[in-house]
Amino acid sequence: MTTELSQDTLAGELERARQDYAALAARGLSLDLTRGKPAPEQLDLSDDLLGLPRDLRSAADGTDVRNYGNLKGLPELREIFAEVLQVPAEQLLALGNSSLELMHDCLVHALLGVLPGAESRWVDQERVAFLCPVPGYDRHFALCERFGIEMIPVPMTSDGPDMDVVERLVAEDPAVKGIWCVPKYSNPTGVSYSDETVSRLAAMTTAAPDFRIFWDNAYAAHHLTDEQVEIADLLAACEAAGNPDRTFVFGSSSKITFAGAGVAFFGSSPANLTWLLANNAKRSIGPDKVNQLRHVLFLRDAAGVREHMARQRALLQPKFEAVQRILEAELGGTGLARWTEPKGGYFVTLEVPDGCAKEVVRRAAEAGIVLTPAGATHPHGDDPRDATIRIAPSYPGQDDLEQAMHGLTTCVRLVGYEQKQA
Ligand code: PLP
Repeated sequence: MTTELSQDTLAGELERARQDYAALAARGLSLDLTRGKPAPEQLDLSDDLLGLPRDLRSAADGTDVRNYGNLKGLPELREIFAEVLQVPAEQLLALGNSSLELMHDCLVHALLGVLPGAESRWVDQERVAFLCPVPGYDRHFALCERFGIEMIPVPMTSDGPDMDVVERLVAEDPAVKGIWCVPKYSNPTGVSYSDETVSRLAAMTTAAPDFRIFWDNAYAAHHLTDEQVEIADLLAACEAAGNPDRTFVFGSSSKITFAGAGVAFFGSSPANLTWLLANNAKRSIGPDKVNQLRHVLFLRDAAGVREHMARQRALLQPKFEAVQRILEAELGGTGLARWTEPKGGYFVTLEVPDGCAKEVVRRAAEAGIVLTPAGATHPHGDDPRDATIRIAPSYPGQDDLEQAMHGLTTCVRLVGYEQKQA
């Protein structure tokens, strides 16, 4: 990222950045780039979910959805999401309103009960560690922190986590019980795992007999380009490699229909399903099947999900394009930044010179632009290089987003040139 500037040019660029920043601060903006949540217009696309027939009662098999029961969720909804999440319908459960809750519960059940293949409960072991590809999703790290699970950062590459590092760590340390993965259009880099990464994850030798891949496929259907990236089927690869119980697949319709009022899914091997269902049977008398039936009627089938996601894309694509356009116009060739160009998902990762991310976020906040705290993309909020900033373009309106991006690039120039001059 280094571009050498003469002293004169540097002084000129710094002066220009200072003036731009003063003008920015004087505008008294109040903009927010932190929230990876759908914009109101995206939620409007699913409003028909709210007005479904008054006689909405029976699932395809005659189940009265208004009553207790059916711990696996409605078969017709599991059928729709089987294709989206690459899990056979009979191995997919349709559960509550949040996949994060399911991840939380799986950790709790593994800590307090015995996982298939485990020798003991995780809570009875001296150390439990998870591999955390970085940059990654802060809520995964927060779950580890909550339960005292040690986090071992693993660098991300453009193909997924660095598999040489992953293979070494899982082979040598039996305390390594899991890895967090957002395999498609990852949060926050937008990276999709290559076929080779998937097959190495499935086949690698793990010292822990109860190792699990937490495969959080939150952005499985969230394309932003015509390329429509597809990833290899991890569940099938694990089975083929003789490790059928290695994977927990998570997904939800939070960023398909309503965030927090959609349906969450869990897919895995028959042994893991039996394990989770037995645990769930203590926790619940059945999921919200009324909401599940609403989703069936609204989405209809996997093609219906694709059509709906094309409408989502039409709203999101101009925002992601604006982010790229403004970053390129204002930071391209400066040597002050690198950024990802995601083909889907919800985030762009901006990398600034080492030691600058916190200061960029601080200066942006002073000018009325709130960004995700620097460091949030790393375990314990600690980005050792202090270089990573997560941009979430979905929520603000187009004008607000563009203003916020102009402001952010001003802050990067200001802080970057100040550092160069120091
Ligand atoms: N997983 C990832 C990678 C996410 O980015 C998010 C939300 O931003 C979630 C899970 C939350 O999903 P849910 O709404 O199903 O709990």
